[in-house]
Amino acid sequence: MNQRVNIGPKEIMNDSFYRYYREKAKVTCPNKQGQITITNFATITRQLELEQSTERLASFIKYLKKEFGTNVKELKNDKKNKNVTTDLVINGHLTVDDIESKIQAFTEIYILCPSEQCRKPELAFNIEDNTVQCKACGISFLYNKDKKKSKKK
Ligand SMILES: [Zn+2]
Repeated sequence: MNQRVNIGPKEIMNDSFYRYYREKAKVTCPNKQGQITITNFATITRQLELEQSTERLASFIKYLKKEFGTNVKELKNDKKNKNVTTDLVINGHLTVDDIESKIQAFTEIYILCPSEQCRKPELAFNIEDNTVQCKACGISFLYNKDKKKSKKK
């Protein structure tokens, strides 16, 4: 059975009734080149709704690259849809916990509503006018790639 991880802030991680969740990353053992593969990458990105735009998906991959300070390779093994990144190969002896902690960090910055009262993964991106609206609480704001930084100011 696939393990579930809640898509939310750390406080709700053990809430088994939480309605937003995704598959836990499936990570292979390092190969001879010292690379690991996330084999359910497409499922996770779909569950995080990153496929809403190629830019958002690219920013997730870029985030992992930067955080691990290494190169990644996208595998597109879906014969029906050759544009989908199915597996992500990352250089380094990384464990499931390493991967999970980065997905969680990314989720907190980019997936969850920035409103402290809300924090739901219900953001809808409108690429045309560069805005984001939360479908749960209704707030909208300008989409800023450096959202975390500008929020902290
Ligand atoms: Zn909200």
